[in-house]
Amino acid sequence: PADFAGQHLTVAGLGVSGISAARALAGLGAHVTVVDGGDGDKQRAAARELTAEGITVRLGDGDTLPEGTELVVTSPGWKPDSPLFAAAAAAGVDVVGDVEIAWRLRGPGAAAWLGITGTNGKTTTVRMLASILAAEGLRTLAVGNIGTPIIDVVLGQGKDGEPPYDVLAVELSSYQLHWAPSVRAHSAAVLNLAPDHLDWHGSMEAYAADKGRIYEGNTVACVYNAADKATEDLVREADVEEGCRAIGFTLGTPGPSQLGVVDGILVDRAFVENRQKQAQELAEVSDIAPGSGTPAPHNIANALAAAALARAFGVRPAAVRDGLRAFHPDAHRIQIVAERDGVTYIDDSKATNTHAAEASLAAYEHIVWIAGGLAKGATFDELVQKSAARLRGAVLIGADRALIREALARHAPDVPVVDLDRTDTGAMSEAVREAARLAEPGDTVLLAPACASMDMFVNYNKRGDAFAEAVGDLTARDH
Ligand code: ADP
Repeated sequence: PADFAGQHLTVAGLGVSGISAARALAGLGAHVTVVDGGDGDKQRAAARELTAEGITVRLGDGDTLPEGTELVVTSPGWKPDSPLFAAAAAAGVDVVGDVEIAWRLRGPGAAAWLGITGTNGKTTTVRMLASILAAEGLRTLAVGNIGTPIIDVVLGQGKDGEPPYDVLAVELSSYQLHWAPSVRAHSAAVLNLAPDHLDWHGSMEAYAADKGRIYEGNTVACVYNAADKATEDLVREADVEEGCRAIGFTLGTPGPSQLGVVDGILVDRAFVENRQKQAQELAEVSDIAPGSGTPAPHNIANALAAAALARAFGVRPAAVRDGLRAFHPDAHRIQIVAERDGVTYIDDSKATNTHAAEASLAAYEHIVWIAGGLAKGATFDELVQKSAARLRGAVLIGADRALIREALARHAPDVPVVDLDRTDTGAMSEAVREAARLAEPGDTVLLAPACASMDMFVNYNKRGDAFAEAVGDLTARDH
């Protein structure tokens, strides 16, 4: 493993990930300086704490490279064209992210990584995968953007008498992949590719190239989405180890080297142990998170991707089934909040972009759609066009709701639209009441905003909580 003791490291960004990286690296004996362009109360408070721990903090200047820096460790929010990185390049100093540090810190015999990226579904799929691996009896953890920071997970290996992990299910964002040049996953999956975060990456090509990095050096399987050609192209372009296979997943009948669905059964035609057999049955679709309703198509796709990675790691079919049964979806991701008077209320507040919203709108027949928020430069024509036939009505909230209203007027002129013209937190309860009025028995009221939440709420969790609370407050009168 890498030895950072005595090295002069500069950490870019005094946020959650920067603070945890700084502490971990200082704990390894590195001389750490954290730089941040901000100089507010919050930063000062954090700076005081770190300074007391022997970490140098420089506030109010995030642009110049501290003298003597040997390596820059960056945070996800920092764009690749930040002046600090130009300064680092000029000085011949590498810039890496926390995932790269974690990878370099792995010791001999360290847990293999199964990597997952994609525009949407990463967290869900990583958690499904961890559940399957655990059902196989492996010591594992879902890491990445969830739970314990990845550096701490790697450093914690085998400490306190705990046996080390056998394998990690690692969520890798496009940002993290951009700054993690030497990570080599055992196997990896790209779930889907749609425009997102283009302001950070600069272009769709750059975004796709960063996602594609996840396949570099894979040893057993590169898992792609057979319904999303861009993901297959990335596999073709990747430089993998000899013998590494391209494995597709599809919601339809699988071809050779694919996993798919036949008559409600998840079927594996890629990793078939018995050569006599054409296909291996893994689980029923209804085994996916039983108790949370019929799985949405995109969650079947996520389950297939997780199953593909587990099978690539040698997991038995029965463990795939048991792991999917034991899986519970996270809050705010297609979460059934309540059923009232025959209407189902579903919280998909995590649908913060149009690609995610499209997936959840595709999962229901008659929908009263609650949408709006911060559009982040997105357009809504395609989303509305594809979903128009399923919309019973729409209730719009948030700063950029006019963009959605105009798309509805263009492509779904007959759908009743309630434009609340509100961006205050309380708007959610009015939105839910309006949606309840539009809904008929058998309908679904779906919060799938297709937008970020920060115009009205602290984050998507709070937006989903407000929705659930408003549903709880509905009275018979509202129907
Ligand atoms: P991520 O970690 O990539 O943000 P999540 O698992 O948190 O993904 O899911 C985010 C949202 O994306 C969900 O609320 C759902 O609406 C949508 N989603 C999940 N999986 C998929 C998928 N495979 N394809 C499209 N949309 C999806």
